[in-house]
Formats: sequence, structure tokens, C-alpha cells
Amino acid sequence: MAETLLIGSGNRKKAEELAHLLEGLPWEVKGLRDFPSVPEPEETGATFEENALLKAEYYSRAFGVACLADDSGLVVDALDGAPGVYSARYAGGDANDARNNEKLLNALEEVPWPDRTAHFACCAALVRPGQPPHVEWGRVYGHISVEAFGENGFGYDVVFVPEGHDITFGEMDTAEKHKISHRGEALGKMRAFLERLACTP
Ligand code: IMP
Repeated sequence: MAETLLIGSGNRKKAEELAHLLEGLPWEVKGLRDFPSVPEPEETGATFEENALLKAEYYSRAFGVACLADDSGLVVDALDGAPGVYSARYAGGDANDARNNEKLLNALEEVPWPDRTAHFACCAALVRPGQPPHVEWGRVYGHISVEAFGENGFGYDVVFVPEGHDITFGEMDTAEKHKISHRGEALGKMRAFLERLACTP
């Protein structure tokens, strides 16, 4: 019987993206809604890797199953790497996607296009009971647009123009985004690792 793999994310859109990227694997992929409700862990790590491991370890221990969690964010060069690990909470206590994007566009108001470089980073962590953790990374480079474009995706998608394209992630469909996205890359590598694990007696 296929082993259970829990996707450790309370963010519905992100959990859906992760589930989509893990389709067809010889694992029984489940979400948090398939388990009794527990409080979300606090993301106290100083790096994407620390936060990804912290989430995967927390849910794996809570339910005694393998858990995959990711931590991701936007790193803007002209802002010395901000919002980084604080991407979800960039606009403060009442942050949401619209407020975060507004704050970012204001912060870059005076910055010309060549200096509006940024990348998304994603660290995916797999924690299995009694086994060493496994981590994979993905990154996608691009520029921050001068205003929001598109309605797809979530977070900073509407202001991120990936290198080699002249539209934002918010204007791409999900499949197109994940061919080049940070999460697509990290999860592609994690898929290969999970496939090898499932084939190892
Ligand atoms: P996490 O759930 O702690 O990984 O938060 C990541 C935050 O970074 C999200 O809430 C978004 O604001 C931003 N982010 C991460 N990945 C993406 C993406 O693919 N598109 C847009 N924003 C993203």
C-alpha cells in the first residue's frame, strides 16, 4: 500500500499548488484537512530552510506520517533581500496580498527597471518519522513590475516578471508558471527523490 505523504501547509492555494506538483507519485498525498485540526506552527526560523524544516517536523511529529512542507518568498535586490522570510507578513499585522504588493511597489517607486531585480526562492523539506530530513531548492529570477498585472496565482505573482518573459506570473496559467517557478523546480527535484524512495525496498 502507498505510504501517506502529508502536505504541511495551511495556505489553501499553496497546498493546492503543491498537491498538483506531486500528482501521479506512488504516495498517498493528503492535506491537513484529512487530519484533526492542530494549531499552525510559528515560523520562527531565520532562513527559508529553517522554516521549511520546522513546519515539516511539526506536522510529521503531530500525526506520525511523512510530511512535506515548503517555505518560500520574494528576495528583492534593491531592498537588501526584503521581504525574504517575511514575505507573507511584509505589510505588518494585517498583511494580505494586496497590501504586501502595494507596500512593495511604493518601496520601489524611485527604482528604475534595470535595478528592480528580484528572485523567488523555495525550500522544500521532507520529514519522515525516524529518518534524516531531505531538502531541495528552487529559484526563479526576474524583475518587479511598476504596477500589478494579471489575476492568477497568489502573493507577489502579479508584480513579478520572470526573466525571458514580458508578462507577470499573475498573467500566466498555473502550468506555465510552474514550468519555470521556484516551487516547480524544488518540487521537481523532490518528486524524483520521492519516486526513488518509493522504489527502494
Ligand atoms: P510561506 O507560506 O511562509 O512560504 O510564505 C511565502 C510567502 O511568499 C507567500 O505568502 C507569498 O507572499 C510569497 N510567495 C511565495 N511563493 C510565491 C509565489 O509562487 N508567488 C507569489 N508569491 C509567493
